[in-house]
Amino acid sequence: MDPASGFLPAKHNHRRCVEDALKTAEDVCRRRGQRLTEQRRQVLELVWQAHMPMRAYDLLDKLKKVHRAAAPPTIYRALDFLIANGLIHRIESLNAFVGCGDPEHAHAGQFLVCQDCHAVAEMADPGVATLLKKKASQHGFFALRQTVEIFGLCPACAENHGGDHTAMSAAAK
Ligand SMILES: [Zn+2]
Ligand SMILES: [Zn+2]
Ligand SMILES: [Zn+2]
Repeated sequence: MDPASGFLPAKHNHRRCVEDALKTAEDVCRRRGQRLTEQRRQVLELVWQAHMPMRAYDLLDKLKKVHRAAAPPTIYRALDFLIANGLIHRIESLNAFVGCGDPEHAHAGQFLVCQDCHAVAEMADPGVATLLKKKASQHGFFALRQTVEIFGLCPACAENHGGDHTAMSAAAK
């Protein structure tokens, strides 16, 4: 199965994405004997607000609207739990977090990050992960963890650039 969560059109039933993510999180936690506390659930819901990477401080500001006493450790502890359970991923280069569409299967994600609108899609292609691990081992390097982040334009933003490939390929040089 391909756990990829591709770019969705701007107008889609996003409530459904959020509901599915929360339901999956509950199932995953129950099966693993982990507790998805109210606070962890709220942070997960905030991360899933959009298919955009969310920074810890933005999440904190939003959480404060519900829990006035929320402090940075509240957010960091919840984020650590969500990462450990594969419910969210950290986009290292942006120091921000996105929800994972397939927390049931351990995987190394490859992230497509739109530099215009900041939308993120995840590929989670095991072939890519295996190839990188193999290439690294050719350098005598034993890869334990990998984060692949690819920057460019999402389908909607590529279209907004009017298919101006000359400008785009010039920018790529
Ligand atoms: Zn959505
Ligand atoms: Zn994932
Ligand atoms: Zn975009």
